[in-house]
Amino acid sequence: MNIKDNLREYIDAGYPMLYINAYEEIKADTLIEKYSDGKHLVEWNGADGLVDFKTKTSLLGNYMRLDEALSYLKNTDGLDNHIIVLKDIHVYLNDEYPTVISLLKSICQKINKGDIESTIIIVSNTVKIPKELEKFITIFEMDEMTQDDIKEYIKSYLDYYGMSVAPKRLKELSVAFKGLSEYEIDSLLNLTIAKGSDFNNSNGIRSIHEQKRQIIMKTNILEMINVKEKISDIGGLNNLKQWLERKARVFKDIDRAMEFGVDMPKGLLIAGIPGCGKSLAAKATSALFEVPLLKLDMGKIMGKYLGESETNMRKAIKLAEAISPCVLWVDELEKGFAGVDGSGHEVTMRLFGTFLTWLQEKQTPVFVVATANDISKMPPELLRKGRFDDIFYVDLPDDRERESIFKIHIAKRRESDVNKIEYSKLVNKTAGFSGADIEGVVVDAVENAFADGKSELSTDILIKAIDDTKSLSVIMKDKLKELQDFYKNKSTFKSAT
Ligand code: ATP
Repeated sequence: MNIKDNLREYIDAGYPMLYINAYEEIKADTLIEKYSDGKHLVEWNGADGLVDFKTKTSLLGNYMRLDEALSYLKNTDGLDNHIIVLKDIHVYLNDEYPTVISLLKSICQKINKGDIESTIIIVSNTVKIPKELEKFITIFEMDEMTQDDIKEYIKSYLDYYGMSVAPKRLKELSVAFKGLSEYEIDSLLNLTIAKGSDFNNSNGIRSIHEQKRQIIMKTNILEMINVKEKISDIGGLNNLKQWLERKARVFKDIDRAMEFGVDMPKGLLIAGIPGCGKSLAAKATSALFEVPLLKLDMGKIMGKYLGESETNMRKAIKLAEAISPCVLWVDELEKGFAGVDGSGHEVTMRLFGTFLTWLQEKQTPVFVVATANDISKMPPELLRKGRFDDIFYVDLPDDRERESIFKIHIAKRRESDVNKIEYSKLVNKTAGFSGADIEGVVVDAVENAFADGKSELSTDILIKAIDDTKSLSVIMKDKLKELQDFYKNKSTFKSAT
């Protein structure tokens, strides 16, 4: 929820506990003070205990321990008309501190009953809400700095040091800083100056990009992947490759394309059989588009506490936008969103809503490549036209595709042997093999050839490795048929082949 427009209303309306998700406590403090409307303000923080909110001087007894501070607040007669600001307390919001949770609950109940007109405000950069407190808490997000805010901020920072920067560089810097907090921007500016870099040359900007990468890694939600895979490493999937090549033309020249009237590319969903090149295609997209690849791990997004998953999702989106242009690879999409069908879990529903709205309205050059094996349980909204630019279905490779996959993997390991192999024999024996199965065959055959003291790879060695392999079609026979039937009946899906 937007903080500026709503904080006062929620305080006035007697909501017992507000949770401000903020990196910058000082900014949160300013807002709380502004909207507190003459109420008494007390604060508890981990370093000082119970203090006066404005002066940060300790209050009666100090109460360094949170449970003691809360117990004091709960039992004192003078708690009416107060705002109790709690900082650093996310570490206590779990089963290990039942007393803290009970005390918070008890104060909330007093507020709800109308015994006291007070509000608890938690300020933290991490959202953690134990089950017992769910119904009392409303979450607020700090407002983002706009690009103009960032420009103003950089200008005043440089003014202070008697420095200046050309308008073009100022724009580049403000783009580079998008998505970061004031504190992070400050640290990066300080660091750039300390390193003696000049904001007016590209080294300064590069160093900022590098630092930003570090900040992204630390969030532990997005991973920045170093890509070696090229589009030519994908065997078959010609439709998909051609589609990506056309999109690359738009994406790499986005300003001109949009001036021409082209819509901002959203991205694509690649669904289908495991081990057939979906992840490979996601990686190769980033190489083709010549932009960084960020991987969003749905498993890491799903938090244990109420609000955590949505906050994580918003953080991930914000960071991806900050580093744009980029490819955002959402792997195993079904893990996050399967079963969102109305009866679904409320958290998953909201998470799904956040993602969909963003995808629909996205105006930044973040190209989403979502990959999934089984989307049969995914909500139809996600598959509707207008969410993704297109949805592709990847099946087991056909004869021609298997031949090119063999060639790619043999060339990678035994370049000199590529033209000595009788591919038709390999193709005839590998119906039902996935790309990953074929790679496995080549890996085994090359190792066997070496271990047996052979000087080269041969068709026979490869055939032996094929015979020793249990292909995907054998291992997951029934499930495979089910998946294939599902995908083939979906007319909105394009075949990747
Ligand atoms: P999963 O759904 O299990 O993650 P996936 O479809 O994403 O599977 P990949 O990770 O892309 O599969 O494939 C696994 C490996 O198999 C790849 O690293 C690649 O080496 C090989 N492979 C699969 N398909 C192809 C292909 N079409 N061309 C070349 N190699 C392929």
